[in-house]
Amino acid sequence: KSIIRIALVTGGNKGVGLETCRQLASRGLRVVLTARNEARGLEAVDGIRRSGAADSDVVFHQLDVTDAASVARLADFVRDQFGRLDILINNAGISGVDRDPVLVAKVKDQIEGMDVDQRVEWMRENSKETYDEAKSCITTNYYGAKLVTEALLPLLLLSSSGRIVNVSSGFGLLRNFNSEDLRKEFDDIDSLTEKRLEELLDLFLDDFKVNLIEAHGWPTGGSSAYKVAKAALNAYTRILAKKYPTLRINCLTPGYVKTDISMHMGVLTPEEGASNSVKVALLPDDGPTGAYFDRNGEASF
Ligand code: NDP
Repeated sequence: KSIIRIALVTGGNKGVGLETCRQLASRGLRVVLTARNEARGLEAVDGIRRSGAADSDVVFHQLDVTDAASVARLADFVRDQFGRLDILINNAGISGVDRDPVLVAKVKDQIEGMDVDQRVEWMRENSKETYDEAKSCITTNYYGAKLVTEALLPLLLLSSSGRIVNVSSGFGLLRNFNSEDLRKEFDDIDSLTEKRLEELLDLFLDDFKVNLIEAHGWPTGGSSAYKVAKAALNAYTRILAKKYPTLRINCLTPGYVKTDISMHMGVLTPEEGASNSVKVALLPDDGPTGAYFDRNGEASF
């Protein structure tokens, strides 16, 4: 097949998203690198060109996944320029926690001496979750991915091999929930609907407000909203995969990667993290759909 595939990546200006764009471009795909900040996005495209891929086919378009007007403008752009989309990678994400920049700067020198458990523990102890952060986290990591997906679905359905790749996290796995009932609801793909999923997100935020997260069995141990948002993204992946059987719709974790979101505590390089997104994006047409991938392959939710 000689048609050039068109891939779009959200949060493409840095970290895993930037590397995903670079790797897809180096494999000959046409890439739409998007970022909420135009200057950072253009700089990223420049960086890819300067890094030796001068003839790489990467174009920039602004996209804030939480801004409906921005999402609509992007969908118009893709339709006008390409008439379809082959691969959507919902990569943009935020941590949902407040961190003291002074502490973050300080710990940078100590990271190498810490094992993974110590790093995770440090993050937990030094990250404050507020209601506003929790809400933004769900707005960006779940509703943002959904907004972009819905706007681009008509164009993905025009592709002969449309794919959606949702960049999730091991933090979104159901084992992080302490309530068996909640685990079951998030996992019961035969009856779970988007409406119910979003009711659950509202319940989480209500519980967050009145300090009932632990009592009601939501994920604890830090980054609660991030864990719930990524679990919702996983469930959404499965719901969509059922609804659109001609597309391949999957989610994944890039692994624990050294980027801003992990305060560079991760153990993998952005290149290594992005390779999982690229692998899932390029699975064969008869490959799995509605599945979750960790770095070893398909894994359980
Ligand atoms: P980074 O913090 O380096 O990158 C996050 C990207 O998301 C940035 O480009 C950021 O843009 C963008 N973004 C945030 N909010 C929005 C928004 N409203 N609209 C558009 N873009 C937005 O982190 P990573 O590269 O590590 O994260 C990529 C994905 O991988 C995330 O979904 C993350 O949850 C996931 N992940 C990462 C892990 C890790 O260890 N690093 C582990 C598991 C999952 P800006 O520069 O403007 O802030």
